[in-house]
Formats: sequence, structure tokens, C-alpha cells
Amino acid sequence: QDLQSRIFNTTWLKTVYDEKPRPDVITRFPPEPNGYLHIGHAKAITVNFGFAQHYKGKCYLRYDDTNPVKEEEKYFTAIQDMVKWLGFEPCAITYSSDHFDELYNLAEKLISKDCAYVCHCSAKEINLQRGGPDNRGKRYACADRSRPVEESLAEFRAMRDGKYKEGEAFLRMKQKLTDPEEGNPQMWDLPAYRVKNQNYHHRTGDKWRIYPTYDFTHCICDAFENISHSLCTSEFRQSRVSYDWLLEQLDMKIPNSEEKGPMQREYGRLNVQGTILSKRNIQKLVEGTVAEKRLPDGTTEMRKIEPQVRGWDDPRLFTLVALRRRGIPAMAMRTFVLDLGVTDNKTDTEVHKFESTIQDYLHPRVARLMLVLEPVKVVIEDLSPDDEFTKEIAFGTGSLSTHKRPVTFSREIYIDSSDFKEEDDADFKRLAPGKTVRLINAMLIRATTFTKDLNGNITEIRAVKGQEADMKSNSGTIHWVDVATAVPVTARKYSSLFNSGDLDWSEGGYVDKINPNSELIFSNAFIEQGFSSLGKQDRPVSENPDAGSDDIIRFQGMRVGYFCIDPEKEGDKIVLNQIVPLKESKPK
Ligand code: ATP
Ligand code: MG
Ligand code: MG
Repeated sequence: QDLQSRIFNTTWLKTVYDEKPRPDVITRFPPEPNGYLHIGHAKAITVNFGFAQHYKGKCYLRYDDTNPVKEEEKYFTAIQDMVKWLGFEPCAITYSSDHFDELYNLAEKLISKDCAYVCHCSAKEINLQRGGPDNRGKRYACADRSRPVEESLAEFRAMRDGKYKEGEAFLRMKQKLTDPEEGNPQMWDLPAYRVKNQNYHHRTGDKWRIYPTYDFTHCICDAFENISHSLCTSEFRQSRVSYDWLLEQLDMKIPNSEEKGPMQREYGRLNVQGTILSKRNIQKLVEGTVAEKRLPDGTTEMRKIEPQVRGWDDPRLFTLVALRRRGIPAMAMRTFVLDLGVTDNKTDTEVHKFESTIQDYLHPRVARLMLVLEPVKVVIEDLSPDDEFTKEIAFGTGSLSTHKRPVTFSREIYIDSSDFKEEDDADFKRLAPGKTVRLINAMLIRATTFTKDLNGNITEIRAVKGQEADMKSNSGTIHWVDVATAVPVTARKYSSLFNSGDLDWSEGGYVDKINPNSELIFSNAFIEQGFSSLGKQDRPVSENPDAGSDDIIRFQGMRVGYFCIDPEKEGDKIVLNQIVPLKESKPK
């Protein structure tokens, strides 16, 4: 909350607002319902809702559903879920399509003012009129631009009534296409309406054959909803002029004034290096694809590529559903966005910075438990029944110290196979024959012998009680679980999906760069019994009440990493996902 105040109070927008509530601050988060949201959208959500929240104004969730071709019902629900997960409550959920009638009427009004005309040029021809692909050629108007208002009106109605197919007619705004002084392509007679052949709309059915463009729709819907700040990413900087131009033509804004009508303002896009955010590419990873590869001899080869991830919510992806499944806390997500700062420059950051924010967030908040990923049994031969115990031990220090769980210690325990070496060496701070280690929350043990199977894997370690006098400078402390009471689990550890950032998506080369270790599965892992007493109610996590919440249980596996419980079990086994590694751990 403090962070939010700092961000929205000071630098951003270069507008000085005082601390007073401003109920006239109204924003909207306007996704196109054509895909799952990703980490970049978390910034858009945090900025729009956070800015409104800071001034005690309000923020709409508006589905910008003006392109019937790509919209699907499932995305509407998923988007709503993610806004809620991040802890924000829209003042209302609205749809651009609710305004199709009014938008149509305003288009006729624009034509009547001779500020728009129906044009029959092809998309290619229109591009040439606008100076060609590089926008540098000579600009020119077509004959349609000067046709009488009545004729454009009639043609626009004909478009509406189905006389034209897609590409045969456009309604274009009559801006400054032919003004040689006008350098902004957003003012070169942008299309306002186009015909769609595939025109079934999820809300308006087959009522419309023509659909308004973003440039026509967005500013008008903003005005309808009394948006004060229409916040968008900085690639739209040039659109400010066309945004204002259209609203001014329609008497929905007073030129150069904040008194009437919304104002567009920009913030920089968020990019996290190495993450795949393109819908088309994620789709290839999720569904698989058939790639066409051109060979040097000019022929082509078809290559069938299998799906590479579990779904849109695979924890290796950076969609918001995936980040949630991986156990990233909503508030940590918001902290990450705000920590980077909000300005009009693009924010380019690294996965490492993201993980570091998550680690800092989790560190003081979650319980600590002992989790053994690759168990090997240790029998402490001289342990007497008197040495065995079940004790109540705190989940951690600080605010975690008042929450306790039972810890049982007995003659047979599991330790992690990486904590044992057949032969000791000077740098090895863990267990080896003849060497003593401290078991967290228990006692010292010294290894004596071990047995192996035919494949050379260690099957059992024998040990005895250790002596303080045997603890040397290279003696360490390790975690363990009690064999009799430990809970079997499957744990999954994630790392970067690709080995290289240089990916060929079109010919399928990306699949050769998949990191085979991006998902490591430990299906014989064990966690201490105290795991069962981690519940939503007694979870020792102190989360900000309006920080976004979920039912996900998170904890730190001591010396291993931060984990959460996956929503799906494997058989009757609980599955754990690694959220992030521990801060100090170096890759093995
Ligand atoms: P994509 O093509 O990745 O889906 P988009 O811009 O088409 O992105 P929309 O669904 O239109 O996505 O996005 C809704 C809002 O989120 C828009 O205001 C958009 O500018 C913003 N947004 C999208 N990506 C980012 C990003 N990487 N950083 C910040 N804001 C973003
Ligand atoms: Mg978009
Ligand atoms: Mg989008």
C-alpha cells in the first residue's frame, strides 16, 4: 500500500495531485478477450486499478470486444478471475459491444459533419495513400474522399446492410491525410469501420456485419464511462492526437482542456527478458504444431511437433494462470510491478529480478518445513527409545514463531541423497562415513557404513549418535524427515523452458532449444508430517487483506526452495510446485 502511494503520488503522469481523494479519477482495464493474460497485463491491471484505488476513484473492467473473429467465452472468465486474483474489484464489468448502436449513430454523425467517408480502395491501395510501407512516400487522397456526404451515408448504410464483403468498403475518418505538414500517421484518415465476413459476435450474435476499429471505439467508450485517465502503453503515444481529434469532432471533449472528456496518458510496457508472451507462440507450446521447414534445395519438409508444456497454466510459462499455479502470491506480483516503477519508458527486466522480489516477499511470511526430494534412509543404530521424541516446534522465527507443528524424530530417517558422499572431501559440509553432521531440530549423527544396489545407488546409510567434539569447520547442518511419519509427495522443480533466447518459431526450430531439465520431477519425495497441519486458517502467512488472495498453501522447504501445493494430485499423492529457489542457493 505504501509502495502504491509512493508510485502514484509522485513522478508518474507529472500531474500534481494532492493526497485528497478524487472520486473523479476513473480508469479502466480494457483487455481484448482473445487470449490469456500474461505478466505484462499484471502491470496494466496494477496501474489502472492501483491508480484509481490510490485516489479513491474507480476502475472498470471493460472487455474490448470489437473483433468477433478472435473472441471466446473462456477468455472472459479467465480475465475476470485474474483481476480478482490480483486483489482488485472492478466498479463494473462493461463491454465495448454494449455500445454498438451508439457507436454506429456517432459514425453517422461524423459522416454528416463531413468528417468521415466510405472508401472502396483495397487495403494495399490505402497503404500507398498513406505513404506506403515506410510511411515516407507521397500521400494522396482517393476520389471517395471528396464524395458528397449523402453518398457516404448511403454507402455506410449499405455496408451495414451487407452489400459489401470484407475488404470492399471501409468507413474512414477524414483527418489530415493530405496535409503535408501533418507528420503523425494516426492523423492520416484511419479506418473507423470495416466489414467482417466471419461476423458472429458472442454478445450481439449476427446483428452486425460491420465492426468499429480500436481507434474509433476506444475513446468513445472512455467518454461514455466518464473515464478521466485512459491509461495505455507508450506505443500508443501517437494516438493521443487522433483520440482527442475524434472526441472533439463529436463534441465529447473540449480541445486542450481537462474539463470535459477523458485524457489518454501512457505508461511503459513491461517486458521480462526470455519469457514467451506471444499468444501464437504459447499456443504452439501448449497444443503442438506442424512446422514447415524450407530445405536448402528449395523443397520443404513438414515436421510434427508435440506439445511441450502441460497447458496454458504450466508453471514454466508467464501467463497469469501459470504464475498463479506456480504459487506466485498476488501481492508479490503487484509489488514486482510497482517496484520497477511506473513511468512512460518501457520497463525491461530479467527473470532473476522477478524471482528475487518473490523470494523477498515469501521469506518472512511462509512456514518452514523439512522436505526431502531424493530420499535415502539413515538408520541410527544406537538410538534408544529415550532419544526419540515428538515435539512442538515453531514454523519459523519472527511472526512465524507462534505457529507450531509436531516434529517426530526416531531411529529411521530420510536425508537427501545429495547430502551424503561415499568419501568425504574437504569442501563437503554434509554427511560421509566417519563424519558428523547436525540434524536440524534434532541431534548430531555420525555415519559409519552404507549399502548399495547393483546399479551403484546408495540404498541405506548406517549411523550412530554424534559428539559435539567431532564437529569441525567443515561440518554442516542438514534437513531430514522421520520415516514412520513422513508424508510421500511428488515435487516439481522448474527452470527456464529454453536453453537459448534465440528461437525460431516459424520453422519449428524452437523445439530443439527446449531445456530438458526445465521440469524436474521428484516422485519419491517425503515431507515431514507437520505439512498436514498447514492449512488455510492456521497458515502462518500475514497477508495484506486487500492484497489479493487465493487458497494456495505455500511454504519453504528448508535448504530446498519455496513450494506450493498444486491444485491437481497425481493419483492420491499431493504434488508440490517449486515457486522459486532459495535466494542463497547456487545452481548445482
Ligand atoms: P497482447 O498482444 O500481448 O495480448 P495487447 O496489447 O493486445 O497485448 P490487450 O488484451 O489489448 O493486449 O491488453 C489490455 C491492456 O493491457 C492494454 O491496455 C495493453 O496496453 C496492456 N498491456 C498489454 N501488454 C502489456 C505489457 N507487456 N505491459 C504493460 N501493459 C500491457
Ligand atoms: Mg490489443
Ligand atoms: Mg491481447
